[in-house]
Amino acid sequence: MTAGDEGFLTLSIGVRVSPEPVVIELLHRYKDALNYAIKKILDNNLKTLKQVHNFLYRDLIEIFNLPSRIAVDCYRDALANANAWRNNPKRGKRPVVKKLSMLLHPGSGYRIKDGYIEIIGGMRLKIIGWDRRYDDYKNREARLIYKRDKMILWISKKIPKPKKYTPIDVIGVDINEKKIVYGDEIINIKKDTAIDKAYKYVRLAEDLQRKYSSSRYLVWRRRKRILNRIRSYHEKARNILIDWTKKISLEIIRLAKDLRYGVSREDLTNLIKSLRKLPKDHKTKLIIMGYSRFERWIDWQAEKHGVPYVKVDPNGTSLECPKCDYKGLEEVGYRRFRCPRCGFEADRDVIGKLNVRKRGLRKLGIIPRGGALTPLTAPQMTDVNPNR
Ligand SMILES: [Zn+2]
Repeated sequence: MTAGDEGFLTLSIGVRVSPEPVVIELLHRYKDALNYAIKKILDNNLKTLKQVHNFLYRDLIEIFNLPSRIAVDCYRDALANANAWRNNPKRGKRPVVKKLSMLLHPGSGYRIKDGYIEIIGGMRLKIIGWDRRYDDYKNREARLIYKRDKMILWISKKIPKPKKYTPIDVIGVDINEKKIVYGDEIINIKKDTAIDKAYKYVRLAEDLQRKYSSSRYLVWRRRKRILNRIRSYHEKARNILIDWTKKISLEIIRLAKDLRYGVSREDLTNLIKSLRKLPKDHKTKLIIMGYSRFERWIDWQAEKHGVPYVKVDPNGTSLECPKCDYKGLEEVGYRRFRCPRCGFEADRDVIGKLNVRKRGLRKLGIIPRGGALTPLTAPQMTDVNPNR
């Protein structure tokens, strides 16, 4: 998933294939060749594809026995890796690729034929599972990845962005580490985020790590099993968070689309930046990941569904009156605030949501059907997450 440009979206379509030993072996050789090429590119400060070709093409074929087309993709991949490292101001050690992941060019590097993926050099992989929704769009560059006994070819495709409609109102989205609240002045949907649920698994991993860090347990076999369990807990936490983010983003975008609304969310860039400065405990890491994934997914879903969206300044969204803009609401109960100027009163979450909506309406230049902003006469419906 990557955001698109000028009227196009770039998506990656996963094609699951049955792993063949000969291809796994090729992936290992490719990885070794890639690391060799990255090292040579950095050692010799190679910059252009032509330089890289002259320097490495023969080696990749002769030392690593790569088919010629794959050798070309391999040094292109290496140059991209080397450039990413060179352009990173905070770069640490030189990059070493550990994943089994091979770049493949459509046509000369791979093609799809009769239920198989054919890779140059006569290798064939049987297709097991496939998302066929984007079959009509051209296959572009792909990446073959082998991880945990699963082999997937991720094919990149360009699809035209759907045309955006003119929104009649805006769904405001307010998110914090515990809750997400979204809706307009009538709709108020409130759900728990997945941070706490994900954190439970991180804690299990930490407990295991603590328990087995004593030297008694350093016997290799045992240690490896424990490390795998620790890793799987971390992975579980990550998956919980990613699944939640995808699901909630889609729910919000679908609601907006059904109502012909736009979506307004807070710009979390600065919040994420300041979180990054904190000590890197596991919970902070989860929150950072949660926020940045959320931003990416909701924008992506909006693009994909043709829903107009904006991000707004998050400053003061919880202390400003959504009705009259007065800054300085007074606390009148637990998380409950009141405007001393106009008398408007609501829960903190609701106020956040309404202000995000209000800023979105202004940014998109929409005057909602009710006319003036937020005449809060309707009762606030609350939908509490049932999975809790
Ligand atoms: Zn007010």
